[in-house]
Amino acid sequence: MKLVLASSNRGKLEELRHLLADAGVELVAQSDLGVGDADESAATFVENALLKARHASALTGLPALADDSGLCVDALGGAPGLHSARYSGAHGDADANIDKLLHELRDVADEDRAAHFYCVLVLVRHANDPQPLIAEGEWRGRILRERRGTGGHGYDPVFLDVERGRSAAEMPAELKNALSHRGKALAELRRRFVARG
Ligand code: IMP
Repeated sequence: MKLVLASSNRGKLEELRHLLADAGVELVAQSDLGVGDADESAATFVENALLKARHASALTGLPALADDSGLCVDALGGAPGLHSARYSGAHGDADANIDKLLHELRDVADEDRAAHFYCVLVLVRHANDPQPLIAEGEWRGRILRERRGTGGHGYDPVFLDVERGRSAAEMPAELKNALSHRGKALAELRRRFVARG
């Protein structure tokens, strides 16, 4: 089965390819089929993922897989949430995003700095699929007062897995994948995909 990935991120493509390989799926990036990014204008992660998946499927005639993810901080009412990638203004400036987050939380006590990463994956069989496969994952933790570790990406250096006493940037990729919102959503999607046949 050929499936288009509604993302131009090579890292995501490789990760998903690997995960879906033994499920008989051939994953192709939408950018390799001449499809540009969809407008992510919805109010929730799942709606944004659906918009992206439908867009890719409509333009290619193929089933499509899309994801959306972000960091939600309790003390900030769920922010940066949908705006995680562009919290500081510039899209994808992880350093500036972290600076803004630490500033917003400067007066918040350690015990009130709870946060979670969230990831949703959506698979549509065609652009008007009334029953998309939807899989979610969450990773609960706490926002540190300063950066720790050099691995990962995005908010990883300030996200503490309390149980393990390590930031996401202090973990080897394998451990992060086992614990993370994305890893959990991927495992769930794979399970549902295989179950549906
Ligand atoms: P997207 O789903 O690729 O658009 O990611 C949204 C944004 O959420 C990213 O740009 C990061 O700022 C943040 N984010 C999502 N997942 C992670 C993660 O595993 N670590 C750190 N930041 C993340």
